[in-house]
Amino acid sequence: MESIAVRRISLKDVGKLSSVYKEVFSGPPWYEERVCSGVSLSDESERCNVQYTSRKIPTDYQWPLDKSKRTGVVGNANGLESCVVCGRELIDFYPDFVNQNDLIREALSKEGFIGYLLEDKQNPFGFSWGYKVPTETRTKSVNFPRIAPMLDSAGINLERTFYGAELGIVEDKQGSGRGLLASAVRLNGARLQDYENFVVRTKNGRVLSILRRIFSEQEGRLLFVDPEKNAPWYVWKFESFDKERISTLLSTVKQE
Ligand SMILES: [Zn+2]
Repeated sequence: MESIAVRRISLKDVGKLSSVYKEVFSGPPWYEERVCSGVSLSDESERCNVQYTSRKIPTDYQWPLDKSKRTGVVGNANGLESCVVCGRELIDFYPDFVNQNDLIREALSKEGFIGYLLEDKQNPFGFSWGYKVPTETRTKSVNFPRIAPMLDSAGINLERTFYGAELGIVEDKQGSGRGLLASAVRLNGARLQDYENFVVRTKNGRVLSILRRIFSEQEGRLLFVDPEKNAPWYVWKFESFDKERISTLLSTVKQE
């Protein structure tokens, strides 16, 4: 990993980050390439969340098309113009459904933001960021005014809790520990700021495996399932952060 550099994200990186973000989440396992335009309907009984990708999706894919729930992903969708479930037209996931520039700027404005861009010979290929758990306002992705009391009821001191918002590596750079590196550099930053807890919402097994490696092989404590996104929340204590392993890892890259 001798040519890899990790760099603190600032507002001037929004453009660069925006294209890496879109590239990461249009790939597996998210496939956020196109989505049914029925996704934005306010009436839940009419809403249609079916996503479409030009890629072939694996046969054992975790979130296949479910016509009755209007969820899941349709693969090999090149040339399709309308939804196979409800017939509405398809739109680009980014930025027509989710404007990733707004999402990135929103994150950068959060109290306690710590984020890194990963670059190989100045080509960005990954990112990770997080911030102190917000309590007052929701983000585009998380309803924090609902989640904060749930964390509090689980005995978590919100004032000393860092929330892991995003982690992504473009598909052809995955493997070789780059996801671990991306997550570790942000968590090392949080650790140095004296946070007690790390919380994350994820249904991605690879993310959980990365976090176990950062926290001395400890399993995260499962807290509850998110009331909006059907994904579980977990907590780790920074006291189990594997300082030795992570400082060895971080010594292999250039930090800017
Ligand atoms: Zn549809």
